[in-house]
Amino acid sequence: MSNVSPEEAARRVLDSLWKGRPFPVDPVWIAGQFGIKVLETDLPEEVSGAIIKQKDEDPVIALSKSDSNNRKRFSCAHELGHYAFRMDAGQNEYEWVDLRGKTAGMGTKPEEIFANKFAASLLMPEEEVKRLSKEKTPPFLMAQYFGVSDDAMNIRLENLKIAA
Ligand SMILES: [Zn+2]
Repeated sequence: MSNVSPEEAARRVLDSLWKGRPFPVDPVWIAGQFGIKVLETDLPEEVSGAIIKQKDEDPVIALSKSDSNNRKRFSCAHELGHYAFRMDAGQNEYEWVDLRGKTAGMGTKPEEIFANKFAASLLMPEEEVKRLSKEKTPPFLMAQYFGVSDDAMNIRLENLKIAA
């Protein structure tokens, strides 16, 4: 288990790499800062993303090239969550394949929950969501601002207990 909460882990990444930069957050660029290669490729239909870390090599994140831009962004942020989780656990070698539906937003394994919360916190930081909410920004405009799907935005608002 991780010692750091996913929200805290995402906040640390944003504080060190995305301070003063505009939204939407670019998870592919952030991955690059960690030396992680991000590939868009033909993945099996049921696979939404994967992260592969071979011993003493840089990790590789694989995204499905037929996915929408928003979905790729969320998948990339989610895989970064796996990276953060494994880093925290001190693992140098692993392979994780995410399947659609089973893990998207309703994962029950601690690592999946971590990766989903990490992704949501990275792309939709709490303070920024609250700022927009105070300005009465409609959720669909928030979704555009953060570069996420309406579904991802609504789940985030629900989890932060902000009425949409
Ligand atoms: Zn996952």
